[in-house]
Amino acid sequence: MIPPFADHPLVSEFNDLKKYFRQHETVASRNRIHQFRTFARVIAEAGLPVGFDVMGSVNFGVATETSDVDLVLYIICEDGYDGECPSPKCRTQQHVENLLIHTWIRGMSESPYPVQVVDCINLNLLERDLKRGDPESPVLLRFAFYRSVCRGVNARLLRPYHSALLDNPDLVERMKPYLWSLFDELVKSSKHNYSIQKYQERLTQLGVRIPPSMMSTIRVHLDQSRKHLSDGI
Ligand SMILES: [Zn+2]
Repeated sequence: MIPPFADHPLVSEFNDLKKYFRQHETVASRNRIHQFRTFARVIAEAGLPVGFDVMGSVNFGVATETSDVDLVLYIICEDGYDGECPSPKCRTQQHVENLLIHTWIRGMSESPYPVQVVDCINLNLLERDLKRGDPESPVLLRFAFYRSVCRGVNARLLRPYHSALLDNPDLVERMKPYLWSLFDELVKSSKHNYSIQKYQERLTQLGVRIPPSMMSTIRVHLDQSRKHLSDGI
């Protein structure tokens, strides 16, 4: 599906870089995606629909056997609960996290790897805010951001919400000013800078010759990030 903010310059640059790195996807990246997809299928059969947006090295397709996984978890909270999860009213997030991290990854993988749930989105809350059409809604902004730059697993679950957003270009437009700050956070984070550099070194180690045009894109991206960083101080 089209990223909600496909025409944002930072989104298109980020996604161009990602597309390039993904051409050389590692077996470890594919295996992790496969394990998350299977997990989503198995627990959906048990009546617990979940989806993911994966970040970091798996998003770029450069994960190694020891890479950890950062992800956004999508759940549908119990009894139609439409607030943020976890809450005293709902433990769905904790339940899914325990199943994923303590049961699934440890049971499935020969060498278990760390998984960090960096955010959790309750799809009931997202649905409510999509109907309200509030451009300042934190859950809407986070969703649009993740759907613009991450790698979806069980994207079928997310499709109705993603479509509802794309069907409302006026709302997307009104959200854009608030979105800059989210991208700023991503670009400013030293972890992100370090990652792009690390991914680039990994490709070189794999014997992949990075074409000069891609090297200059990477350099511009790193320079911009440094500029944002020094401006922010
Ligand atoms: Zn919940």
